[in-house]
Amino acid sequence: SVEITLKNITKTFSDGTLALKPTDLTIKAEEILVLLGPSGCGKTTTLRLIAGLEFADSNGGSINFGDKNVTELPIEKRKVGMVFQSYALFPNMNVSENIVYGLKVRGIDTAVIDHKLAEMLKMFDLEKYAKRGVHQLSGGQRQRVALARAIITEPDVLLLDEPLSALDALLKARLRGDIRTLLKSLGITAVYVTHDQEEAMAMGDRIAVLDHGEIAQIGSAKEIYLQPKNAFVADFIGQMNRFEGNVIDAQLVLNTGKKIPLSSEALASSNANETLSMMLRPEDIRLTKVTDEQHALTGIVSSSVFLGDRTRVTLEKVQKEGKVIVDCFQRIEYPSGQIVALSFESKHLIPLQ
Ligand code: ADP
Ligand code: MG
Repeated sequence: SVEITLKNITKTFSDGTLALKPTDLTIKAEEILVLLGPSGCGKTTTLRLIAGLEFADSNGGSINFGDKNVTELPIEKRKVGMVFQSYALFPNMNVSENIVYGLKVRGIDTAVIDHKLAEMLKMFDLEKYAKRGVHQLSGGQRQRVALARAIITEPDVLLLDEPLSALDALLKARLRGDIRTLLKSLGITAVYVTHDQEEAMAMGDRIAVLDHGEIAQIGSAKEIYLQPKNAFVADFIGQMNRFEGNVIDAQLVLNTGKKIPLSSEALASSNANETLSMMLRPEDIRLTKVTDEQHALTGIVSSSVFLGDRTRVTLEKVQKEGKVIVDCFQRIEYPSGQIVALSFESKHLIPLQ
């Protein structure tokens, strides 16, 4: 496995679309890096640049695999394996023929091919299906064939573009665990593209969140979720509530006049009378019923949805505009129209840029 380094890589398509703004990115050897972001943010383009299926603008940027500069090398000279959402299997070949394809075209010895094929069929639990046509397989089985086909050539780097998007939720959850275990046991450097935040958190050693062709933030799942750098990242990973107000007497005064005490950290990074924007996660808020509005921070229940492991309560009138979402883990009913007080630890308020 190798470390991948992108330095000042930019991609403009021939129609003028700037798909990737100047980007520096290092994927450590044996790391699983997830590229996460909404449709059109440049995930596939970044992956195709690393693969050598697409070439970066010639502005002096470079892509390295270890010490080797691969910027201008085509895919067949890069030792990469690829797996796509659409599987891209050969429909006229059976499972075994699909898996060994990459070795066949390299003219590898038949005995070696047979040995490796047996290994792959076993690893991916496909022994029973060796001679089956790929159209006779389920989605999960097809994706395992695609993975086996990519891995059999022992690539330095494995690139996966939304490999599980076409599968149902249960299979998705099982396969992503399997894929992570497999990648870790092979010690392969991997770039994994998804638009699904839960998948990103479960799969990645680190996550790079992309926004309009730009890395908005890169870090572990915990860092991205607990310390999002800006509103885009906070909104994309999980649910968030945003509070805006002025800092007066160590408190954030909302446009409803309601006050939120600020932590010393938040105060240290703000000036008096300055407008401040803070994030608070729904699971960090607790609700208590009140009969009057004397409390520092209150709202009115507008809806309450039982989700099994929690109840998601939506509040109005905390701020003049917008709603506040609260996840309650106790089985308490919050009828619409009820006045409730919000409480939380001030350390859970995260300042946003
Ligand atoms: P994602 O994989 O995150 O959905 P893409 O990398 O496919 O995003 O696309 C990023 C941007 O580049 C989009 O605006 C898309 O329309 C554009 N794009 C992708 N491929 C091409 C192409 N071959 N020609 C022109 N524009 C493209
Ligand atoms: Mg894509």
